[in-house]
Amino acid sequence: MFECRRNCGLCCTFPWDIKVTDEEADKIAEFLKVSKESFCGLSKNREGLLCINKKENKECFFIENKDGVFSCKIYEVRPGECSKYTCEKDIKWLKRYAEFKE
Ligand code: SF4
Ligand code: SF4
Repeated sequence: MFECRRNCGLCCTFPWDIKVTDEEADKIAEFLKVSKESFCGLSKNREGLLCINKKENKECFFIENKDGVFSCKIYEVRPGECSKYTCEKDIKWLKRYAEFKE
């Protein structure tokens, strides 16, 4: 059975869209104790779907990196796209992308 290595962060640093439902956005805002209006972690993508913003380096807005140990600032309320994702098929090229970035 697939088990995510929680502090690996490879999929969180890849520049793909991470879609968020309205309900998930409410939970994230509540978790962060901010109003949805003042919440800057989300915006709509080209197709008009709500997504998590990216940092300048294209990593997820909510990823933290402390000396190579990654952690998600909203782990408890991360969207389904993250919690249901399994990287088995993608791990090789995710690693290649991470090496290429360095
Ligand atoms: S799903 Fe895979 S790539 Fe993503 S953090 Fe977990 S182990 Fe790393
Ligand atoms: S929300 Fe959290 S789990 Fe999802 S990509 Fe961002 S840092 Fe990773």
